[in-house]
Amino acid sequence: MENGLIAAGEKLLSRTAHALEHHPKHVTALVAALLLFGGGGAFAVASLGPDPSDLPVRQVLEAVQPLAVKPQVQALEAFGFKLYRNGTTRASDTVDTLLARLGVDDAAAAAYLRGDETVRRQLLLHSGRSLTVEANDDQSLVKLTARWASGDDGTFKRLVIERSGHGSFESRLETAPLVPATRLGSATIRTSLFAAADEARIPDAVVMQMIKIFASDIDFHRSLHNGDRFNVVYEALEADGEPMSTGRILSVEFVNKGQPYDAMWFQEPGKKGGYYTLEGKSLETSYLASPMEFSRVTSGFATRLHPILHQWKAHLGVDYGAAIGTAVRCVGDGVVEFAGEQNGYGNVVIIRHNASDETLYAHLSRINVRAGQSVNQGQQLGAVGMTGWATGPHLHFEFRVKGVHHDPVEIARHGEAASLSAAAKPAFDRLAQSMRQQLAAAPSAMLASAD
Ligand SMILES: [Zn+2]
Repeated sequence: MENGLIAAGEKLLSRTAHALEHHPKHVTALVAALLLFGGGGAFAVASLGPDPSDLPVRQVLEAVQPLAVKPQVQALEAFGFKLYRNGTTRASDTVDTLLARLGVDDAAAAAYLRGDETVRRQLLLHSGRSLTVEANDDQSLVKLTARWASGDDGTFKRLVIERSGHGSFESRLETAPLVPATRLGSATIRTSLFAAADEARIPDAVVMQMIKIFASDIDFHRSLHNGDRFNVVYEALEADGEPMSTGRILSVEFVNKGQPYDAMWFQEPGKKGGYYTLEGKSLETSYLASPMEFSRVTSGFATRLHPILHQWKAHLGVDYGAAIGTAVRCVGDGVVEFAGEQNGYGNVVIIRHNASDETLYAHLSRINVRAGQSVNQGQQLGAVGMTGWATGPHLHFEFRVKGVHHDPVEIARHGEAASLSAAAKPAFDRLAQSMRQQLAAAPSAMLASAD
């Protein structure tokens, strides 16, 4: 898969050569496509990200017909082809597996890497170090750079291995300052939220923050939809333009089934900072939309629920398929009204939130609270199980208002929320306006960075 990008480039190249010989008229577009892809001659495939089969070769072919072919072909020949790739180290790497993954096939380079003490120590025993490689079109190594954060002093290490003039190699280890930056991300969900984020190279830490920010608006287990999309602006510390670590989300917009939700970080002078809608409504509300935390692990279970689960009674709740032992959290502050066994429900916890609202969590494998105890929003009450009348591991969840069942997401969305003070509103509105512009720019910024 990772070599697929280079393979795609090579395929395009050999097609170009073939076309030059046999179909000179068709060459224009192919060469132009190469130029577009390569950003001026070199093959900048590294940051493209998506599967090679997604590369829009066909669209480019049609778009660039009028360009003159001859100077471009000459330019390409003069330049030669360089291949650029990104990757990360793995703890299990050997010199051979590492080079193979980066699309480098170079015995002299491999011998050098094996023989250099610093290279062996810094490159082979660590996972997750960022790699950039530059190779010739015969897969020989030109330059390999590894980067990693080196503690909390705001610097990173850069190890550079470079072919010198006479075909030998040399390496150097440098220290350089990390640069704070604002990054834009944009993704559309086709299979899963995490797949979309991976494809757009948005770090997990950013996705997890986004899920938390919209915890009262969106039930990420049940409501995600093919075509949902999000734009995000977040802080990062960069090493040579590569993110080394991510900080806080500054603003984010999530479109769920056509409905946009937005959020922005804001701190009033002298107060605790938090997330607000761009209209100025706090996103910290009375209830979470879901009693299940959403993560890479739990997200895989959404569609695995057994179909005959609820023949035992008219179904008045929401079911979450999940592995036994998955944490179940309280959706709002309250007091434990019941914690114990009740026939069909198995091990069940009932929380009273106020005079009218109560929530129920059933089929638990474990209960962590006792009757009469006060609990907070997000606190773990127990774990998913299949006690009572359940044919498979899942959480059965009910939200009752004055004894009547309601859709928990609707309740959460319309929960009470604090608003900003009138004094802070002008500053807030100015920031919100700038965030709207950045969010709107995120999708095209992503395209540009893929060039
Ligand atoms: Zn149920």
